[in-house]
Amino acid sequence: MRRHFDVLLRGSKNESIRQQSLIRTIESRERIFLTKSKFRPSLASVKTDAADLLRAHGIQPSAQRIVIARYVLFTDEHPSADKVWARVRAGFPMISRATVYNTLNLFVEKGLLREQHLAPDSIVFDPRTDAHHHFVDEASGRIYDIDWGKVRVSNVESIDGFEVHDYQVVMRGRKKGPAKR
Ligand SMILES: [Zn+2]
Repeated sequence: MRRHFDVLLRGSKNESIRQQSLIRTIESRERIFLTKSKFRPSLASVKTDAADLLRAHGIQPSAQRIVIARYVLFTDEHPSADKVWARVRAGFPMISRATVYNTLNLFVEKGLLREQHLAPDSIVFDPRTDAHHHFVDEASGRIYDIDWGKVRVSNVESIDGFEVHDYQVVMRGRKKGPAKR
């Protein structure tokens, strides 16, 4: 968890202004994950945060990148690349699939997104780059984030013959209770 944030901070070259803005954006990202809504509260703050986030990661914030960032860096939907394309295209019909794919790869490379392989032949993108687990609702296909501390895994270090760099738990099942909407 900490490690990913350290990487982000190192990437900003310790420039205090950039760091502060990065820390602010990280804090605001975290705030959003605590809310129930799929999107950030106001478009104005999303717009600022998206451009800030890109700059803080050494990415030139072009209009197309900002449009993609505004969705994919602030959603908890764990979208596939094609879903990102469909979402972005709804507002910007001219945007190409290649642009979306290249931008997603760039965001992954720069540490803004993580690729998650949660189902066979399916890669989804996750703006939460801290360590966390996933729960897949088999009825809806929806992927939920589960905080790291909610699940305890032991003895990972003592698996013979393997050096573990990373792990997570992918749970499958059904979300309980009536949908409260
Ligand atoms: Zn996730």
